[in-house]
Amino acid sequence: MLAEIITIGDELLIGQVVDTNSAFIAKELNKIGVSVYQITSVQDDKNHILQAFKDAESRVEIIIITGGLGPTKDDITKKTIAEYFNDTLVLNDSVLKNIKTIWKQYVRQTLLQVNKDQALVPSKAKVLMNKIGTAPGMWIENNNKIFISLPGVPFEMKALMLNEVLPKLTKRYHLPFILHKTLLVYGLGESTLAAKIEAWEDALPKTVKLAYLPDLGRVRLRLSAKGFEKEKINEEVQEQIENLLPLIKDNFFGFEDEEGAVESIIAKHLTHIGKNLAVAESCTGGQIAERLTMHAGASNYFKGSVVSYATDSKINVLGISKELIDTYSVVSSQVAEAMAKQVLQLFNSDFAMATTGNAGPTKGDSDEEVGTVFIAIATKKEVYSEKFMLGNLRSRVINKAVNKAFEMLLKEIFKN
Ligand code: ATP
Ligand code: MG
Repeated sequence: MLAEIITIGDELLIGQVVDTNSAFIAKELNKIGVSVYQITSVQDDKNHILQAFKDAESRVEIIIITGGLGPTKDDITKKTIAEYFNDTLVLNDSVLKNIKTIWKQYVRQTLLQVNKDQALVPSKAKVLMNKIGTAPGMWIENNNKIFISLPGVPFEMKALMLNEVLPKLTKRYHLPFILHKTLLVYGLGESTLAAKIEAWEDALPKTVKLAYLPDLGRVRLRLSAKGFEKEKINEEVQEQIENLLPLIKDNFFGFEDEEGAVESIIAKHLTHIGKNLAVAESCTGGQIAERLTMHAGASNYFKGSVVSYATDSKINVLGISKELIDTYSVVSSQVAEAMAKQVLQLFNSDFAMATTGNAGPTKGDSDEEVGTVFIAIATKKEVYSEKFMLGNLRSRVINKAVNKAFEMLLKEIFKN
């Protein structure tokens, strides 16, 4: 079964809003065995929207649309849908009731005509009740094609997808099982990895597809298979993974469950061995701490972080000696290692990591080139560091440094 996603809104086409709706919808459709054939973003323009509907309908059975359902004049999706289906807008009582309830609960202002008009829906549409917003979702079936229109606001769209759209689609179609398994491979570039696993890749059965997703110091390797026999699909992919793992054993860090997978792996292992971590961050500015604390339960293994950004904070807060900094420069392996050692002691933790570097665009308090980052790991027994050259775009340098730090930490944890 094939679907297309059409996201509507001028804001998407001027780059003001990133189209995260499509990514969410595509991921969820995939989970229930619907493949997305194309994703299109169009302006709030009637003819453009009509053309996009027509094109999508010529290719696939399911068309999911988001955006442009609001009360303002620029929101024209509903009118355009009515026109596309030669339909008229009629007042839907239950939607109006829902709007009034939401108004009473959250807005407490006079309901304007434009708000009441949100209860107008094409007569051919089945309403998907939006309990957390005023714009209703709509489901229109015509000539064996299904058009589903959802609000643009991400959390409203997500609630409707999960509570209404996905259950209805699984009921309506006999859908295949789709399996994706993503392996996290750290410390190997895409081409080195490809060379390493070439023979394995060439021997993959046609049913198992492989994709390389390189990204800041790591490559995500995704194996996918699809079919109606769930058991067989699971076994087939599992077998391939078992053949693959010995080839990448030093660089394989686990499977990606959802976002933030490395942190979850770190969390799992630290909890498992009952050890904890502290961090001293300079160039990463607290992002290591942020990524760790995105996960509930982080206090079980994460003691805390010192963002000793300015040179004098490294001296006054962390207690790094001024002589050390003067001798080796603030961006140096010696300072990174001293930071890790100090923070290990400060927090009395089992592991510590520290970052110091020049994220750019200018050099700052050191002569090291922009993009130079030192990352240190300390345990009760030892301390060591590595130097990385991470390029020159500030946000990338910082992101890569965070990923590199996690990679080094994982390697250290796995030693135990
Ligand atoms: P509502 O009536 O609840 O406003 P709407 O359907 O009118 O819903 P839009 O006006 O299109 O929604 O968009 C509302 C907001 O939702 C936008 O300002 C934007 O922040 C966000 N949004 C819209 N489309 C997308 C998208 N494809 N991806 C991510 N965010 C989006
Ligand atoms: Mg709107």
